[in-house]
Amino acid sequence: MKILQSIRSRLLLWYGFTFSVVLGGLGLFLYYELETIVIGAVDNHLHSEVQLIANLLKKDMDLELSEVGSGDYSVPLSGHYYQVTLDGRVVARSPSLSLVDAYLPIPTPTFEPLYSTDTGPGRERIRVLTQSFQVGKEVFTIQASESMEDSYVILNSFRRFLLVLFPSLILAMGVIIWTISGHGLRRLIHLSRRIEGISERNLGERLDEEGFDRELRPLVRGFNTMLSRLEEAFEKQKEFFSNASHTLRTPISIIRSYCDVILSRKRRRNEEYREALLQISKVASEMARRVDQILDLSRLDSSDFLKSSNVDLLAVAQDVVRLLTPFALEKGVTINLDGKRVKVEGNEERLLEALTNIVDNSIKYNRRGGSVDIRVDSRDGWAILTIADTGKGIERKDRVFERFYREDADDRGSGLGLSIAKAIIDRHGGRIEVTSKPGRGSRFTIFLPSSPSIEG
Ligand code: ADP
Repeated sequence: MKILQSIRSRLLLWYGFTFSVVLGGLGLFLYYELETIVIGAVDNHLHSEVQLIANLLKKDMDLELSEVGSGDYSVPLSGHYYQVTLDGRVVARSPSLSLVDAYLPIPTPTFEPLYSTDTGPGRERIRVLTQSFQVGKEVFTIQASESMEDSYVILNSFRRFLLVLFPSLILAMGVIIWTISGHGLRRLIHLSRRIEGISERNLGERLDEEGFDRELRPLVRGFNTMLSRLEEAFEKQKEFFSNASHTLRTPISIIRSYCDVILSRKRRRNEEYREALLQISKVASEMARRVDQILDLSRLDSSDFLKSSNVDLLAVAQDVVRLLTPFALEKGVTINLDGKRVKVEGNEERLLEALTNIVDNSIKYNRRGGSVDIRVDSRDGWAILTIADTGKGIERKDRVFERFYREDADDRGSGLGLSIAKAIIDRHGGRIEVTSKPGRGSRFTIFLPSSPSIEG
């Protein structure tokens, strides 16, 4: 329901419901309490009347009861009656009955006082007390009644009072709650306006916590933290784009310079055209690789990822060796692989990519006659893959996994290979570490959660 989507309406509904139930209960309680008090007073009065009549009877059995037959008892059909019966016969009755020749229903004798509410001979509501008394050998039953009309007048007016007072109270409180909640929510609306006003242009702005109510401060704090994270991510992205365009600029300018040289003269030899095109094609391939790497990284950053399966890490390492052997031969580097079969849960293609990037570096930055030793192992639920080379070593181990970082600025690499490898390993719930001795070589260690059931 649409109305329930508003805090204010929900608050009002809950309040209305709770307050109505509480006030309704209270009203019923008060009404029945008053009824008990009013009827109790009538009953008390009837009790003393019956006692009085009984005392008079005990004094003089032939009593006309004229002593009690005055006042309300003398007004016909007033609701104030008494009647004395003996063996089912009426032996005395109040003038209010005898004057109109009316009777109260003949009762069954009862020594216990019996109170009842009934309709009198004048169709009025009456309260009747019936009680029997032993006088000499005979059992007289006395009935005395009083009109309930006055009591009902009191009760009805009290009910009317409650029916006016409580709804008015509920209404008044509702208005107050609606106003107060509106006032409270205004701060929230103010906060949402401030939030709306923040875009990528003013991501650096922060909301002042002190300017908001205490209840809203955690929200403001959370929002500020989120802004900081967004700003950081935004800055990183900006940096990534600027690095990405920078890394593409170099091959583009190489291609352009080849074109300029070739076009600077009208006619050139076929070999010159061929050489230029070959170079352009080589640079274009490198550029394509960098574009692929950039796309790769942005895909790894986004959430869509990885068809997962059970991957044999040793088999992946074997594929990498097969793939890079020609390059290693060209560089005069030997690759050695050993270890055991360890399975991990992951994406085979991505793991192959990560490992290729690392081993490729180990060959690329190695010396002629050097080696790359790859080992697959497992320990404590982790698959462990080490790649140790005898290359030039790494100066800034703390930075090698940074995007676009290159140790040597003249190097033709993109500086993305290791960051892609790290991103892939991170996404598999693993980690990568590096140790290195400049001039002697580097060792990369990859830890990946192994699949226990198929480890072996
Ligand atoms: P690139 O694609 O340029 O090689 P990487 O991210 O793979 O970029 O590597 C970043 C830098 O780290 C490289 O420029 C290189 O200087 C250094 N590096 C990476 N691996 C090795 C290694 N095995 N030995 C020496 N230096 C390395």
